[in-house]
Amino acid sequence: MNEDIVKLIALQEVDSEIAGFDRQVNEKKQVITDRTQSITDKELQISQSSQKSEDLTQQHNEITAQLEDAQIMIKERQNKMMLVQTSREHQALLKEIEENKKLIKESEERLLLIMEQTEKLENESQELQNICKGEKEILDEETIKVQKQIDKVNKRRTKVADKRGKLSSKLKPNILKRYNLLLAKKSGVAVVQTINGVCQGCYMSIPPQQFNVIRKGETMNLCPTCHRILYYKEKEPEAV
Ligand SMILES: [Zn+2]
Repeated sequence: MNEDIVKLIALQEVDSEIAGFDRQVNEKKQVITDRTQSITDKELQISQSSQKSEDLTQQHNEITAQLEDAQIMIKERQNKMMLVQTSREHQALLKEIEENKKLIKESEERLLLIMEQTEKLENESQELQNICKGEKEILDEETIKVQKQIDKVNKRRTKVADKRGKLSSKLKPNILKRYNLLLAKKSGVAVVQTINGVCQGCYMSIPPQQFNVIRKGETMNLCPTCHRILYYKEKEPEAV
């Protein structure tokens, strides 16, 4: 087989291995990213919950103040009742007392509702905080574990990258350039095998005449469809 093609096949193998390492590292990093995001989401919920709780406290204070005003008002009107002479004045005071009593009753109901809401919010928030705490502990452990795994993968990657450097230095610059371009354009697969006359990069058939040339392995051939570099292996595996 043409020496350039042999070198390109070896280079492709190395690059696929490197891509595999990169995939592994990214997958491991993603696990940490997802866990961190889950904690961030919960922390946001906790902070929103605390804001709502503050609003409710504010409402509670306002209503309590209104309620106290109404109580004072009733006392005042009751005192005044003893001093008034006409029944008309008496009726007017009674009406005001009734209105304030109604206001107090409504305020008390609203206060009860607010207290229930506050309690519910606080329970939910406490539960979230507990979950968050657990998730943070897991994240800390996982981060250490993942970092060790990544270090391991990167060590292997460095060795393979070294091999790539040596291999690529043996290739003619123009061939290496074309290969690198293809690698970038074709999602990391620039050199592919042909099986039963089919390109294994795009799975399109190669014209029989070109396929014969590829079988000889004397010249470099590109797939007419995907333009990847093609090669033929002596013992063609059976198609699945
Ligand atoms: Zn192709």
